[in-house]
Amino acid sequence: MPTRTAVKRTATSRRINRATRAPISTDGSDADKTQKWVYLFSHGSADMRDLLGGKGAGIAEMMRIGLPVPPGFTITTEACQEYFARGQKFPRGMWEQITEALRTVERSSGRRFGSANRPLLVSVRSGAKISMPGMMDTVLNIGLNRDTLQGFIEMTDNPRLGWDAYRRLIQMFGRIVLDIPAENFESCLTEWKERKHYKSDTDLTVEDLQGIVEEFKRIIRAGRDLEFPEDPPTQLRMAITAVFDSWFGRRAVEYRRAQKISDELGTAVTVQLMVFGNTGGESATGVAFTRNPSTGENKVFGEYLVNAQGEDVVAGSRTPKPMDGMKKELPKTYAQFMKVCAKLEKHYRDMQDLEFTVEDGKLWMLQTRSGKRTAQAAVTIAVDMVGERLISRREAVLRIKPEQIDQLLHARFDEATKEKARAEGRFIGRGLNASPGAAVGEAVFDADTAATRGAQGEAVVLVRPETSPDDVHGMLKAKGILTQHGGATSHAAVVARGLGLPCVAGCESIHVDAAQKQFTTGRQSVNEGDTISLDGATGEVFLGALDMVRPAFEEQKELQQLLKWADDLRVLGVWANADYPRDAERARRYGAEGIGLCRTEHMFFEEERLPIVQRMILAKTDDERNAALKQLLPFQRGDFEGIFRAMDGLPVIIRLIDPPLHEFLPKYSELLMHVARLQMELSLERVSPTDPDRFKRLLNRLGERQKMLEAVESMREQNPMLGLRGCRLALMMPGLTKMQVRAILEAAANVAKKGVKVQPEIMIPLVGHVNELMRERAELEQVAQDVMKEKKARIKYKIGAMIELPRAAVVADQIAAKADFFSFGTNDLTQTVCGFSRDDAEAKFLLRYIEEGIWPVNPFQTLDREGVGQFMRICVEKGRAANAQLEIGICGEHGGDPSSIEFCHELGLDYVSCSPFRVPVARLAAAHAAIGSESNSN
Ligand code: ADP
Ligand code: MG
Ligand code: MG
Repeated sequence: MPTRTAVKRTATSRRINRATRAPISTDGSDADKTQKWVYLFSHGSADMRDLLGGKGAGIAEMMRIGLPVPPGFTITTEACQEYFARGQKFPRGMWEQITEALRTVERSSGRRFGSANRPLLVSVRSGAKISMPGMMDTVLNIGLNRDTLQGFIEMTDNPRLGWDAYRRLIQMFGRIVLDIPAENFESCLTEWKERKHYKSDTDLTVEDLQGIVEEFKRIIRAGRDLEFPEDPPTQLRMAITAVFDSWFGRRAVEYRRAQKISDELGTAVTVQLMVFGNTGGESATGVAFTRNPSTGENKVFGEYLVNAQGEDVVAGSRTPKPMDGMKKELPKTYAQFMKVCAKLEKHYRDMQDLEFTVEDGKLWMLQTRSGKRTAQAAVTIAVDMVGERLISRREAVLRIKPEQIDQLLHARFDEATKEKARAEGRFIGRGLNASPGAAVGEAVFDADTAATRGAQGEAVVLVRPETSPDDVHGMLKAKGILTQHGGATSHAAVVARGLGLPCVAGCESIHVDAAQKQFTTGRQSVNEGDTISLDGATGEVFLGALDMVRPAFEEQKELQQLLKWADDLRVLGVWANADYPRDAERARRYGAEGIGLCRTEHMFFEEERLPIVQRMILAKTDDERNAALKQLLPFQRGDFEGIFRAMDGLPVIIRLIDPPLHEFLPKYSELLMHVARLQMELSLERVSPTDPDRFKRLLNRLGERQKMLEAVESMREQNPMLGLRGCRLALMMPGLTKMQVRAILEAAANVAKKGVKVQPEIMIPLVGHVNELMRERAELEQVAQDVMKEKKARIKYKIGAMIELPRAAVVADQIAAKADFFSFGTNDLTQTVCGFSRDDAEAKFLLRYIEEGIWPVNPFQTLDREGVGQFMRICVEKGRAANAQLEIGICGEHGGDPSSIEFCHELGLDYVSCSPFRVPVARLAAAHAAIGSESNSN
């Protein structure tokens, strides 16, 4: 296979460059005799994982702590590296060391490899440092041939066991080492059984097995043009070579590419005395976890089979039984196994995944490793282990990844329901798991429909070829998002994560036809109104409604406990971004210690308010404008009262109006079209009049639309993001922010009278020059004084600046002298520092940039430490130097991203503020950051 050799050659030459460090000689001298390629189990330990691989190190460790392990040895990963460095030849001295180690195993077991008298049989097992699918499978029963088989039968007094072992060896060797399709052996076996009317393998007699052995040997001869090697050392050598070679097998290489695992690690090879779980009713084999890997329950969880050999459990030919059954069937062994589980957990201080075999009532441990588990199990196990004094609170906190917390807070599908749906053929396809959580709803194909139906309380899933900013209003009201195109940083994915909405993106196996309001898969078509289910955590899409489980945060006792421990460890405060009282309440339940960003403009978009806002914007006179503002005041005041009440006793940062005003007016292009249409209808009406009233109506309407068009046109900007917005708007049109500040202070005074503790903080957006802050501050303080006088109340409030322009960061000392607090608006700061307009960048080129590695990650998701971060650093240093009391936080989306949180901790910010859904994640990430920086400074 030419491709395979090509891969090997590059690895080989790379390896040669490095090879000079060890006592390996490349000039053929005998200096390499000192290199140790082989370690007996008794000479290894858990911390030799790099050298012995995960499996080899685990076995050695079990032996070290006195557990029953069949003796053997491990060939190192360095030997594998050297094998490739030498152009696929065994390292010098390796075979001698293997032979020597075999002698030791022979002595301790009283057997001899290749001898007809008490023959030694071994398994050859692969195992890299990182557990890796795609590596070579294990070959059992190496060492059997016609002669040793007789010895084996004498020793075990069990001819059937012997012949079956021989049959299995030839089958495995043929499939794994010689690469003959498994099919060839299996169909031969099946035919044999059918001919004899047997139901299972156990019905095969010695005579049958003898016949099958001959057939299998013939299959090898036909497939590979060679004889099955009867010579035990040859079997061993070929099996070891096959394990080494499998390191550069296609599946293994692909897996490493995807997981970014280095090709240079190499695999270890473990050679171990065979024990037999198929010698009769007192024998068994099985796999078990020391605790339940899906729930975390502290109870051994696993399966076993009586009278079976390793591969039978996974092969599925016989159904294994749950571990509980072993209590009755093999009570002594069960008790012993429970002790082993306890000992291993105590030793590793973690849940273990075990493989074992029982031979004539004697328990043998074959593998241990830290067990994979669900997020729920991870939290439960960590918390339980603290209770059992196995680990410290700090370790428990460190063991949970922030993303796992995220998984626990999103609704998800019950596994059983998914299985059922799959069995019923309702699995539609799999896309990218873009935003976790489960969603069930009727498919809709445009944002407007999603918005209207969603607003009426219907559950809809928005299905689009891809999404754009024009779809956001629909996304807001949908239960989930499904797109045909787009990656992890596509618009749909980014927005969905921000909203805490489940999203499956880039599901290329479906074809979305938005115009026809349907999508098709290979087999079926799904129309508007058909119910679908999305699993955002796995990327799966199903037809119909799947049952959901939504674990309420309050009910997850272990999670709450873990987060309390995290709170004790973290230094950063965790606040939330919330615009509505409902969001503020959720944030508080999730543990937010304040509101870091309450945006006020959304309040203007609501149906009954928008016409008033438009009147205010279009007003020709001050009187007109003030009248509109007066009408808006009670709405805003009511909103703020709700938020203050929800956050009783905690700070609330309210940002004054930020977006350019034209956002509150109809779109220019739409107006233009509307005016054109009206004009056309009018001229038709002139030519052939239908109704004089209609003519008048059209004329009025046209006049009104034209006025609006002129107004919008006069406000149009080349680059609204950098135009008249933020504090610039406030300075040009002071009435609006004055009204907002009045609403804030009146609300504060009103609820304070009812006993609510209020801590309002007023944030001024887009400050670039200190004079902007000074002027606005003076105006707003006057309003605050007035309100307090009217209300006869004293409210302590702060006024601060949102830092989102590079200039503000650089002149932070000047600004800090006039501000009570800073809050980094890192969304805009990233745009202005990088010179990206986010929507344009994400829609047009940023994804490609990331794919091609031009930018390592999306700077809108993970803070760009070396660019944006440096402005933040300067800002914090200068700001704090000028004003020691200055409170500094972050309210951009980065406030919920673990890596960005770590950076905020390093900068010494007071808090991070993120969406309510991310608050628990941020609590944990902040603790990790604190622990991390502590251990770094040690
Ligand atoms: P994998 O990495 O696929 O789990 P293993 O090397 O662990 O492969 O081997 C798979 C199974 O083969 C083991 O779980 C065990 O049942 C059986 N096996 C491996 N070595 C031995 C041995 N020395 N004696 C008995 N069974 C063994
Ligand atoms: Mg394997
Ligand atoms: Mg295994």
